Amino acid sequence: MYSTLPQPVCVLGSTGSIGVSTLDVLARHPQKYSVYALTARDRIEQLAQQCRRFSPRYAVVLDDDKAAQLRLAFQADNLATEVLSGVDALCRVASDDAVAIVMAAIVGAAGLQPTMAAVRAGKKVLLANKESLVMAGPLFMAALEESGAQLLPIDSEHNAIFQCLPYPFDGLGGAGVERILLTGSGGPFRTTDLAALDSVTPEQACRHPNWSMGRKISVDSATMMNKGLEFIEACYLFHATPAEIQVVVHPQSIVHSMVQYRDGSLLAQMGNPDMRTPIAHALAFPERIDSGVAALDLIAQGHLDFEAPDESRFPCLKLAREAMEAGGSAPTTLNAANEIAVDAFLAGELPFTGIARLIEKVMKTTQVVELTDLDAVELADQSARKRAVEVLAELYGAHGG
Ligand code: NAD
Ligand code: MG
Repeated sequence: MYSTLPQPVCVLGSTGSIGVSTLDVLARHPQKYSVYALTARDRIEQLAQQCRRFSPRYAVVLDDDKAAQLRLAFQADNLATEVLSGVDALCRVASDDAVAIVMAAIVGAAGLQPTMAAVRAGKKVLLANKESLVMAGPLFMAALEESGAQLLPIDSEHNAIFQCLPYPFDGLGGAGVERILLTGSGGPFRTTDLAALDSVTPEQACRHPNWSMGRKISVDSATMMNKGLEFIEACYLFHATPAEIQVVVHPQSIVHSMVQYRDGSLLAQMGNPDMRTPIAHALAFPERIDSGVAALDLIAQGHLDFEAPDESRFPCLKLAREAMEAGGSAPTTLNAANEIAVDAFLAGELPFTGIARLIEKVMKTTQVVELTDLDAVELADQSARKRAVEVLAELYGAHGG
């Protein structure tokens, strides 16, 4: 009887694009999963609606004012959901004894602490928040090993690679893998005239041809820094060297990535571009459950295209590979500089092509140090942010934040 109890799930970042898709899948399987905690930084009314629908034990927000606002709303509704606030509360619900599964779907470096808390508590962790792995890779993987937590990738590419590898997996060599082919659509500016890239707007950058996502990852997709971060993510997740991963541009986003084996076999995972597929896969692994995603109609699709990425158009790809090759704090610096650059671009303080320029300058003028512990990660992250704000002012005359 015990095994038939619903598994309690904590969704970190429940009001985001991944959070909403996760709740959509969970709602299809009330007998398998229950919602234990929901968290968000803003869009408090949306969080309140989610709480009314799923009646979680906890709702967590960042600041006290919003928590008070939410408490009042729940009192009026007679809802028993307890409201907590702050980063410690995020970590607390992510590591709560009652929780079985944690969806890590906060965007950016803010996801690191709660995601690490879930990893250290030995949870089944569904990782959407790639930035936490990029900024703290070796420590993250060591904590995983130590706690015995199970990490399932949500990024569609890494979920595809996971599906194309044997399970359990103990290294590419042992599995007979020659290389991993990481696919990316090339984003909205794959064929835009290079001279026009200087003046593209945040709205144009956020209009992705195939996927609907949060604004930060949408800009990352337009610069292909998303693929760069995913390249680093894949190196850590699959214990691969940079030389074992090749980025392939595939504009239709139907093949989500591939694994090339020694014997000439190339395994691909395909599907419609809808994050509910990797979410359902990771939630239920090794079972398969309904996700609400329609089956892929290959005949209607007609054809699939592949091409080599153009690094002069997408310098962020090169910057990410170089950061991974440099190791230590270089990926942490890359991620932090990128977050500042994307925020500045979205705020109209930096042209689109300035994103790569800013990151490159920060990388060139920041020393690579060893990441001995999470404090070192925090320090590298903070100093790269500070440096990025200075470089922003140097290059574009903004005073930054
Ligand atoms: P989003 O912007 O739509 O949502 C982010 C969520 O995090 C929101 O709930 C927001 O309230 C919360 N949040 C933001 N800042 C916070 C902070 N400082 N502290 C606590 N909570 C905070 O983002 P998204 O598109 O859902 O992406 C989430 C993560 O998943 C990112 O790391 C992204 O790279 C990754 N991812 C997203 C997709 C996608 O299709 N959207 C695909 C693959 C990977
Ligand atoms: Mg992805």
